[in-house]
Amino acid sequence: MSENTVTISCDVAVAGLGASGLMAAYGAAKAGARVVAIDAAPSMAGTTNMRTSAAFAVGSSLQQASSEPLGIEEYMAWINKGTNYQSNQKAMRAIIEASGRAIDAFVEAGMPFDVDFEHTDSSTPMMVRGGHLYGLNGPDRAEVFSRLVESVGVQCVFNTALTGLIYDENGIMAGIMCAGEVARIEARAVIIATGGFLGSPEEVAKRFAGASIVCGGNQLCRGAGINAAIEAGAQIGKCFSISMNEYGGANPKASPSYSYRPGYNTNEALRLPIFGGLLVDAQGERFVDEGVMCERTMFCCEPMLRSSCSYAICDEAFMRRWESEPIARFMGDARMQGMFAEFFAPDMRVQFAKAIEEGWAFSAGSIEEIAERFELPSLSQTVAEYNECCAVGCDTLFFKDAKYLAAVSEPPFYCVQSSPCGWLSLGGIRCNGSMQALDPSGKPIDALFVAGADADIFTSPYYAPGSANGFAIGSGLIAGETAAKSALG
Ligand SMILES: Cc1cc2nc3c(=O)[nH]c(=O)nc-3n(C[C@H](O)[C@H](O)[C@H](O)COP(=O)(O)OP(=O)(O)OC[C@H]3O[C@@H](n4cnc5c(N)ncnc54)[C@H](O)[C@@H]3O)c2cc1C
Repeated sequence: MSENTVTISCDVAVAGLGASGLMAAYGAAKAGARVVAIDAAPSMAGTTNMRTSAAFAVGSSLQQASSEPLGIEEYMAWINKGTNYQSNQKAMRAIIEASGRAIDAFVEAGMPFDVDFEHTDSSTPMMVRGGHLYGLNGPDRAEVFSRLVESVGVQCVFNTALTGLIYDENGIMAGIMCAGEVARIEARAVIIATGGFLGSPEEVAKRFAGASIVCGGNQLCRGAGINAAIEAGAQIGKCFSISMNEYGGANPKASPSYSYRPGYNTNEALRLPIFGGLLVDAQGERFVDEGVMCERTMFCCEPMLRSSCSYAICDEAFMRRWESEPIARFMGDARMQGMFAEFFAPDMRVQFAKAIEEGWAFSAGSIEEIAERFELPSLSQTVAEYNECCAVGCDTLFFKDAKYLAAVSEPPFYCVQSSPCGWLSLGGIRCNGSMQALDPSGKPIDALFVAGADADIFTSPYYAPGSANGFAIGSGLIAGETAAKSALG
């Protein structure tokens, strides 16, 4: 087979057509540049933003229906208070401002958003004031995404992955190298928007202190963009987090889906790791207030990453409850209770038996047998101490809310092995408010732009629901607009 030598020329090349790349391609083309955008996925339907729920944004036209629309200052203050100023302030300021414009661009292309801003004011919960729930799914959503970029003349190429950057003999940006339908895209400016690195176990271990994280998102996002930028002299940031699966635990051995997701026929046993019951690490020791994990799963990845693999344990009394009562009665906060109000699993025992067969769960008449099965040396002592806490209604180790203290005392006992599971990695190449990639001295690298999960714009832990998407579309729009300026001179 002859080697692919197809070359395309343009002003701005965009790698990745997910949330940030789509908006970057749109922004650059709308500003007058000839844009070619590639994605490793086979079509628009395979890009990550096909699966997301909502983008948090400020200043969209839709939000003007509120009597007190959310402002930039208020949103910034909220994030900074929750994260001790971890976010890239220059970039965050600019991105939040652009986020509303990005929503408006989607609206113009025909995307309805499921919002109710008429009934919001400054006392409404933050997520309702800023959240823009995408109103279309499946092929209808893909059609709007395609229309958005095609309406401004972007050439989209799928099945094509960025493999590196090209510089001419004078060190001037010349485009990107690819694998797939096209071999080379010659361009005067490049935007990297390949969605982080959660699809690569090696990259994950490198950036998350050796942890293994199950990738619940797009497996194609393997750090290619970040590594290409580093090779070009860009500086990686230091702030990494993940947006953790808020619905349940994960185990690669579980089928048909290895990570809990409502509507995906996942084994219900994967819910045990976030029930707020007893969680232990590889030593068989407790490592966290399990109630917090239960209520704020999406944002509490740090303790889970430290333990990397954890074990959730319950007894027969808990199991009886699990199969006979809606979960919401004994788990989580108002949000969880809202999501799972009517939900219970009468066939729990059948599902658990399948989990045991697949090798990621176990049931036994004694805690010692569970300790032996998963090699958890301190488990017996941990359970004894935990039961003492339950007896007096006070967690003297991690002080969790007494409502989650359920003794593990009635045999048989049940155990589920679980790993942290994320939707995407957050954190990448250092950048300024124009989304220019920076070198180690903080100077912009000519004609190289980063956006979304490939950029150093996030906080650790992931703090604001919907900000992953909101920051992606906002940063993408800015990257597109500034890359066009750079390319057109
Ligand atoms: C199931 C699910 C639900 C989510 N829900 C929400 C939500 O409700 N709210 C929220 O804020 N966030 C949500 N997220 C996170 C969401 O993915 C991000 O907010 C957003 O998509 C990040 O945008 P991005 O452009 O950085 O990366 P992505 O959207 O992941 O885009 C990267 C694109 O690059 C492509 N790619 C990867 N490598 C290459 C390469 N080498 N060359 C070319 N292309 C490449 C990928 O195929 C992908 O399409 C969710 C994620 C998942 C998986």
